[in-house]
Amino acid sequence: MCRNFNILVAMSSNELYLKKLKETGNSNTVIRSAVFGTLLDSEHTPLTMAELIRRTADYGDRASVYRSVTVLEEIGVIKRLNIGWKYKLELSEEFHGHHHHITCEKCGRTESLTDENLEEVIKSSAQKADYKITDHTIEIKGVCADCKSSK
Ligand SMILES: [Zn+2]
Ligand SMILES: [Zn+2]
Ligand SMILES: [Zn+2]
Repeated sequence: MCRNFNILVAMSSNELYLKKLKETGNSNTVIRSAVFGTLLDSEHTPLTMAELIRRTADYGDRASVYRSVTVLEEIGVIKRLNIGWKYKLELSEEFHGHHHHITCEKCGRTESLTDENLEEVIKSSAQKADYKITDHTIEIKGVCADCKSSK
């Protein structure tokens, strides 16, 4: 039962990707597919543009990766996370679900945080101010466990 469900989810990511391309009149190209697949494989670890270029090097050059990211960002497949003055890339919430990130100031790794309590606090804070939330971003920085211990 659970197993079947996982397969369905995995299939629908690719289907959703193809649907979004089609709906916006874009075609699937080898490099776009490589960019999407690389971000899908990376799951909850967002990548820098340099990492994405390195991992898709067999499928296209730097410029074509940039162009693919621009198109996929425009049609809502890719989300750009602004981390200070830099950014990282991951698939949008439609693929990965809603979550937040924490970034290590020393090694630069970014991990995802999924804490229902956090969402509840955000919701109730907005309600107290009589707002209906349409979007929110939270940027958390810290020092990761590895960096703390290798001091
Ligand atoms: Zn994420
Ligand atoms: Zn670290
Ligand atoms: Zn949230």
